[in-house]
Amino acid sequence: MKKLAIIGSGLSGLTLANHLKNKFKVTIFEKARGVGGRLATRRADPYSFDHGAQYFTARTEGFRAFIQPLIDEGSVRRWTARHVEINGAKVIKRSIWKDEEPRYVGVPGMNSIAKHLAQNLDIKTNVRITELKRQDDWQLEDEQGAVYEGFEWVISTAPAPQTLQILPRTFKHHDAIKAIHMNGCYSLMLGLSPDFTPEFEAAHVTNSDISWIAVNSQKPQRGDAPTLVVHSSAAYADKHMDTGKETVIHHLCNLTSQIIHHDVSQAQHKVLHGWRYANNVKRDTHEPFIDHDLKIATCGDWCLGGRVEGAFNSARNLIDAIETS
Ligand SMILES: Cc1cc2nc3c(=O)[nH]c(=O)nc-3n(C[C@H](O)[C@H](O)[C@H](O)COP(=O)(O)OP(=O)(O)OC[C@H]3O[C@@H](n4cnc5c(N)ncnc54)[C@H](O)[C@@H]3O)c2cc1C
Repeated sequence: MKKLAIIGSGLSGLTLANHLKNKFKVTIFEKARGVGGRLATRRADPYSFDHGAQYFTARTEGFRAFIQPLIDEGSVRRWTARHVEINGAKVIKRSIWKDEEPRYVGVPGMNSIAKHLAQNLDIKTNVRITELKRQDDWQLEDEQGAVYEGFEWVISTAPAPQTLQILPRTFKHHDAIKAIHMNGCYSLMLGLSPDFTPEFEAAHVTNSDISWIAVNSQKPQRGDAPTLVVHSSAAYADKHMDTGKETVIHHLCNLTSQIIHHDVSQAQHKVLHGWRYANNVKRDTHEPFIDHDLKIATCGDWCLGGRVEGAFNSARNLIDAIETS
């Protein structure tokens, strides 16, 4: 069986691996300690936080078919949150997601979906690929200088700017990928005392350095310890990605306290995570980026306008392109 390397173990990389493993000997290379990429959950007993993707919708038939067995076995559930839209610090609209298009979450954390998909795959974690070299086949080199040889195909699912750093300049879609820009996002994780009583579970915020607040503990099966996940706006993150963490935490805590009318400055647990490449700047859609001569391809949410469902569908589009080639 020919060997195929996938860079990244987010939803797109795991989807690819599961579909291509009968045709190729697939190895996934992942720079992080665990799988899931931006489908991320962090535990700090007694708290747990989804600090990447918050929830997802399922608007395409293929994605609905993919999540149905996960719903049946309980690793995906619908989130029927009380939702508010907030302008500045003022609530301008209330709704209940039970009455609207379904929003889904992984259970007991968003990364449960990735862990489920990762079973029985060959995944090398803590390996950051830095360069591809060609002899007869592809060789992948990591940041420690270790070399992994003999791959007929290489597919990168890393966010567009990181994919560009790895793939050779001769990749025929190099310039198209260079034109795809991604924004950052700060994710502030707050563990609160048991007396916290929220008025909503999910808030989209505009005209603020905050874009989103979730009462993460109110998602299905998250446990009793109250938690908030607060996301900065993309503009704030891009401007302050190199600002000191304490300054960012202080600013986001102040804004959160004003919005939810509860002082979070004394939260029992306060941790900040910065995502340099969180979401697409534009929601453009692209055909799979595939170079049959070099046998290099890319996919990921950024090929289909961002989001969890886009990550899955971009992988499915690429699988179709490879299988019919
Ligand atoms: C803060 C935040 C909030 C979000 N909210 C939502 C939401 O509410 N709803 C929604 O639908 N979507 C949301 N998203 C987007 C969603 O998380 C992504 O669309 C989706 O998870 C992307 O999956 P992916 O497999 O394409 O990429 P990723 O999950 O980013 O996977 C790429 C993987 O490649 C790895 N990698 C990168 N470079 C290398 C390298 N050199 N070597 C080895 N490995 C490498 C990374 O570590 C990562 O694991 C959010 C994202 C963030 C960050």
